[in-house]
Amino acid sequence: MNITPLTPPIDPLEPSFRVDARVVARLPRLERTHAQNDHALGIHGKLHAIPTQQGLQPNDENSLISQNIDYVTRRVARFALQEVSRSILRDMVERNGKMTYVHQVRNCLRARISNKKGVTLFYNVEREQANFGNLQRCYSVWNCPICSMTITEGRRTELKQGLDNWTQSGGHAYLITFTNSHHKGDDLDQLLTGQKKAFVKFWQKRKVTEILKRLGYRGRIVATEITYGEGNGWHPHYHMIFFFDHSIEAKSLKSFLSLEWMDSCTKAGLKSPDLIHGVDVRNGTYAAKYVTKWGLENELTKGHLKTGLNGSLTPFDLLRGASTNNHYKTLFKQFADVFKGKQQLVWSKGLKELLGIKKVTDEELVDDTDETSIEVRELPLKVWDLILKYEKRAHVLELVEKDYKNNTTSLNDFVMGLAQLYAGELIKNMS
Ligand SMILES: [Zn+2]
Repeated sequence: MNITPLTPPIDPLEPSFRVDARVVARLPRLERTHAQNDHALGIHGKLHAIPTQQGLQPNDENSLISQNIDYVTRRVARFALQEVSRSILRDMVERNGKMTYVHQVRNCLRARISNKKGVTLFYNVEREQANFGNLQRCYSVWNCPICSMTITEGRRTELKQGLDNWTQSGGHAYLITFTNSHHKGDDLDQLLTGQKKAFVKFWQKRKVTEILKRLGYRGRIVATEITYGEGNGWHPHYHMIFFFDHSIEAKSLKSFLSLEWMDSCTKAGLKSPDLIHGVDVRNGTYAAKYVTKWGLENELTKGHLKTGLNGSLTPFDLLRGASTNNHYKTLFKQFADVFKGKQQLVWSKGLKELLGIKKVTDEELVDDTDETSIEVRELPLKVWDLILKYEKRAHVLELVEKDYKNNTTSLNDFVMGLAQLYAGELIKNMS
């Protein structure tokens, strides 16, 4: 058996092959069953095999298979990238007399929740995907490629639904971007603190609230984004969707908001943006396009990472390059430390209710391991340690999926192989 430690991915991954929940939701449901008894290493015995593609048309089946292959590739990439993230974010802090990691990504999908149990493996029949159970999660949208994917997907669905509900009921939405001038070398923490202060000043302006009210303004969603460019350094900026009762004149709104935003920046001690670049206002078509693509850039590897330092990089771009570039490594650490605990997407008060969107926490999005998941196995700690040692978490999930579908025992064989490899290493070290 060939055990090669995973290296961070460098291949471009297109977002267009994402598994469509509507397709997989049409698969038959199964009841939860109990895990089989474990033998010596806890890996003997066959996994249940149940046909899972009933009710699908041939075309659906083909597309589902190709989507699943793509899903597997992406998952390997996410786990590998999480390894890079945790290798960078090693800081510890004392909490309640105990030393603990500053960034919980260190423990995400590695450390167990209950020490009385091993790590469980689940199979979700609807999605045809395997999952781990009894493992801690970090719920970080900023530094965990695995948690962020799940949360972002859920939030994107909410955004789309909210916007659709509003426009279908005759409302209007605009995409508004706020930025301010910044330069290479600006301190990221100071920049964010200044922007926060500027927004407080902006929304405290009676002129702003009164004019917006007159225009039929009902609320906003604020998405915080950040990129890094070698030319200008960190570029934290804010894309907002403003919801109005009726249509407005984008150009006049831009002029009005720009002036007020420039004033707020100056009052907050920030470099003032100019009239052209501080605020950008786009109509509903742009808002719709924006929410459809929101968060997907996290899954893209940009070509220019390989060739040079032009253009702007997302934090996950920096992470992808970090294993071979110490500068990116430092930048990613800086970003992760400053963004820890910050909210990625904020809906103004009462907007979710107005748009008919249910409130769900990030934790609920990640922990939603679906009633249709069945427990297929419990892995003893020794086996789990080996899987971590050889960085094979994603591979294990893939094997569970294959075994479930094909009634094979590849997971057993793989774990036996791992054990042999480890034993071999021990013997070698002794001699
Ligand atoms: Zn995580």
